[in-house]
Amino acid sequence: MTQTLEAPPDFLSEPTFLPRVSQHDGRAIEEALAATLFDSGVRLRGAIVEATYAASDPPLLKRLREDGVPRLLEPQSQRFTTKRFLEVEQLKSLPYAPSAPITADNFDPEMARSLAMGALLFEQRQRCDHYLSAALPYYDHDFLKWVSHNDRLLEETSAANGGAEIDRRPLIASVLPGRQALMKPEFVVNRLLDYPIAGAYVQPLLFDPVRAGPEKLRLYVEFLLALAGEGIPVMASRVGAFGFVLQALGINAFDSGLAQAEASNLAQLNRPLTERERERRREGRGGGPDKRIYLEPVKTTMKGAHADAIFERPGLRYRFVCNYSCCQYRGYEDLPARRRQHFLCTREAEVSEVRMRATTGLRLDFVREQLRDAQETGRVVRRALFDLGAAAPTFEHLDRWISLLAQEQVNRASRTEF
Ligand SMILES: [Zn+2]
Repeated sequence: MTQTLEAPPDFLSEPTFLPRVSQHDGRAIEEALAATLFDSGVRLRGAIVEATYAASDPPLLKRLREDGVPRLLEPQSQRFTTKRFLEVEQLKSLPYAPSAPITADNFDPEMARSLAMGALLFEQRQRCDHYLSAALPYYDHDFLKWVSHNDRLLEETSAANGGAEIDRRPLIASVLPGRQALMKPEFVVNRLLDYPIAGAYVQPLLFDPVRAGPEKLRLYVEFLLALAGEGIPVMASRVGAFGFVLQALGINAFDSGLAQAEASNLAQLNRPLTERERERRREGRGGGPDKRIYLEPVKTTMKGAHADAIFERPGLRYRFVCNYSCCQYRGYEDLPARRRQHFLCTREAEVSEVRMRATTGLRLDFVREQLRDAQETGRVVRRALFDLGAAAPTFEHLDRWISLLAQEQVNRASRTEF
């Protein structure tokens, strides 16, 4: 086996946050990005753009390009594995969309070639300076078939990159592990090492960093560390504030949507709509999330009702003053209206603080300290919101994240002793 890794781009070699821009809330994110980038001077190190959003040719992409922000286009090919995509006009009309769902049995070399090539052509047309490969999920059912389909896709993508039709650019492999793949990281890693890639973009099929128990967190983190340990830079998808825990462990880059409680759940995205949902959509009423707000002192994206309860209590709210340019000289009253800007600005500032610390050791100390402060503030919030009873927010994920960091530190210490 030859190791053909390419030099990683800047956004993978240092702690980086990339906003994830999707069709779902593209316009709102566009406004938040424009306001933040051009009014308060936040400098983005990169952005992940979903293909369905890019296909609508939004002016934001042009501005990001002119501003020199690296844009990675996510082909969303994992959405083609159930019938649901046929009901989503924006997915169905992507130039490389198949005419029927891809299954473990019907995916043949010809389909692999046209999917790999189609995604690259689309990314090239959008003038991306890095490519993200089209990939399929490593489903547990028929696992080995999905493994060979992914091998084939990455092989076709690598061969096309720099060929007759595609200008050569650094290629980042999309990796979509299910439970089996997470349990066998070396199996996936060894395959990736066969291809000339500059990094891996990891989107588990099912992972919620806030709800995941210790075992699931550990499996996920060890999967990422197995990639990083072989010199493959990793971007972790949709992890929100858990991204700091990853950065403390040397996984540099993560993305998340703005002001969402981030989690990966492909089955949820791909499941058929119920009749009731169909009806709501026809009436133009999506079942969108409530106005969640990221509160940095507790390192948590809070439900709107919880954020309101905090701001209603003068004894509590002074702890949540935001001094970044998103909120300076402004009250709490209109925070929900600018929550995306607040999220972008705050997250970028938090990550640049991690980046300023020069070594993994310093970063680990810093993040641990931040999480301990958040844990303490979380306790104060819980006590103050005691009257909400069972509806009060819990911050148990912070305890789990802190234990995970402590455990990883012990593992490292024991490894270096030998
Ligand atoms: Zn703010």
